[in-house]
Amino acid sequence: STRIERHHYDVVVIGAGGAGLRAAIEARLAGKRTAIISKSLFGKAHTVMAEGGAAAAMGNVNSRDNWMVHFRDTMRGGKFLNNFRMAELHAKEAPERIWELETYGALFDRTKDGKISQRNFGGHEYPRLAHVGDRTGLELIRTLQQKIVSLQQEDFAETGNYDSRIRVFAETTITELLLDGDRVAGAFGYYRESGEFILLEAPAVVLATGGVGRSYKVTSNSWEYTGDGHALALRSGATLINMEFLQFHPTGMVWPPSVKGILVTESVRGDGGVLRNSDGKRFMFDYVPDVFRKQYAETEEEADRWYEDPDNNRRPPELLPRDEVARAINSEVKAGRGTPAGGVYLDVSTRMPAEVITRRLPSMYHQFKELADVDITKEPMEVGPTCHYVMGGVEVDPDSGAALGTVAGLFAAGEVSGGMHGSNRLGGNSLSDLLVFGKRAGEHAAAYTDSLTAKPRVHTPDVEAAVTTALAPLQRQSGENPYTLQQDLQAAMGDLVGIIRRAGELTDALKRLQELKQRVANVGATGGRRYNPGWHLALDLRNMLVVSECTAKAALEREESRGGHTREDFPQMNPQWRQVNLVCSLDKTGDVHLERKALPTMRDELIELFDRSELAKYMTEDELSRASAEAH
Ligand code: FAD
Repeated sequence: STRIERHHYDVVVIGAGGAGLRAAIEARLAGKRTAIISKSLFGKAHTVMAEGGAAAAMGNVNSRDNWMVHFRDTMRGGKFLNNFRMAELHAKEAPERIWELETYGALFDRTKDGKISQRNFGGHEYPRLAHVGDRTGLELIRTLQQKIVSLQQEDFAETGNYDSRIRVFAETTITELLLDGDRVAGAFGYYRESGEFILLEAPAVVLATGGVGRSYKVTSNSWEYTGDGHALALRSGATLINMEFLQFHPTGMVWPPSVKGILVTESVRGDGGVLRNSDGKRFMFDYVPDVFRKQYAETEEEADRWYEDPDNNRRPPELLPRDEVARAINSEVKAGRGTPAGGVYLDVSTRMPAEVITRRLPSMYHQFKELADVDITKEPMEVGPTCHYVMGGVEVDPDSGAALGTVAGLFAAGEVSGGMHGSNRLGGNSLSDLLVFGKRAGEHAAAYTDSLTAKPRVHTPDVEAAVTTALAPLQRQSGENPYTLQQDLQAAMGDLVGIIRRAGELTDALKRLQELKQRVANVGATGGRRYNPGWHLALDLRNMLVVSECTAKAALEREESRGGHTREDFPQMNPQWRQVNLVCSLDKTGDVHLERKALPTMRDELIELFDRSELAKYMTEDELSRASAEAH
């Protein structure tokens, strides 16, 4: 029989990025025995790669900033499709979560008078991103890990065992959630190094697994982002929303080919970098959409003055939300005004002294020097869009992070959850999202375990089924090659479900995904269970596939363009569609099912934060008359 290592916990947190670590801290502070699982090395999550900063309306650099302005910016960035309650909680609680990080030992860059410094970013009205140079995520992870170590030291002092209340299982992949009826009972997976199985029994699981970018070839995401948490949620009866909305970050490296997709932080533009086409033209002025016209400069002179005097000038159009900038770059390249490698130029070299560039953007300086042999203090960078972030994710209760659908005991936070960012996320709003909703998910997962009268039980046949599924690829040594399958999936998604979408291509994509499903059912891996990346990928593929199907289905259904979803055949935003979330679930046969669901209505006092004329750009006549009737 197969050996399985068994553990018992109160709360299992899957994912060791910002959301997972913050959730685990909170669960442990509530007295729960907590496990943290991470697919890669501990400390190596997307969170660590975050460069620009964490958005929080602390008002340190411009005292006019407050949660209401941040809330407005977030809703505008998401084109009003956000779950308003999440956007509200996020805007209100982000400053507290940042200050709290300082008490854990975080060292942010400072203003002259010693406050946490804040930088400008696309879509944020005031300087709002707390940062540490362009290595903010590293500081965030370092601090959260340090807090966990300090909690483990407390536990050691009390129990003689560092792991007694909080234990980290690194390089461990969860492949299955186990249920008792409709309640979570545990998680099953394998150690990547030995290939041995592990079973963690627990009544509450927090998903904090991050994104899905590896289903695209050009992506800023690293290998482990295969949508595992999204798929685990679906398979256990939870639902996903907004899966058609993917953020293509406007500036990824485009050259050399081996590094295509690697991120060039938005801080480059926030700090003064400009985009030019091959004619040397600052083209973003031609791409300011009507809904944003009033907030953006019309001339280069005004745009340049804004950096020094933001109160009396409008912002440069390079700082429009990411979806707008990505589409603009796409159009310039398509119109033949791109660079030789198929991007556009992003220039800081003519905009600030070399010394300022290397101080403010040290990682970018080294990244280009080492990977592309480009000195960004002397010449422009070449950049183009790259698949970066998934707005869609687990449909959750906004206050607790509890997954909706049919399953109890499942929580989600961070990039794997949906709703918060609507159709497009503002830069910097993810790091703050992780802290705000990570904490909430940990707290509510702990409270949920307290509310249970009987502990859910893991059922042996379910464990046996999980083992069989996990071993299947190894039993088909000559089955389909997992790497070929991943490339074919990436080609289908990149070519047919990319930045600009059309009905015909989306239909083709769904057909290709069906074919791939057949082939993935026959995926094989050569070799054995000891450190075998081919086997691991074979197991990830079914997750990538089901999540990609959600994206393609929802993208075909949503006949409008909004945020991270652009339909060439429906180029306008449609106020009717703004009222609709597309909800994905799995039916009994394992097929993706799509349902339309009305968005929750924004509370009056939140509606009143906006001018009626602005709301009119997004809402139907009907909604507007209801809103104004209530306001009077
Ligand atoms: P992650 O940090 O992605 O962590 C996910 C964790 O889940 C990892 O530990 C992973 O190993 C684990 N995991 C996944 N699947 C499994 C499984 N099956 N079993 C066990 N463990 C699993 N956002 C900002 O706000 N500001 C920025 O400046 C910024 N810059 C960015 C730069 C880059 C290059 C990238 C890629 C993203 C950036 N983002 C930024 C986005 C932000 O970093 C991410 O959205 C965020 O870090 C996600 O955090 P998370 O905690 O949800 O998940």
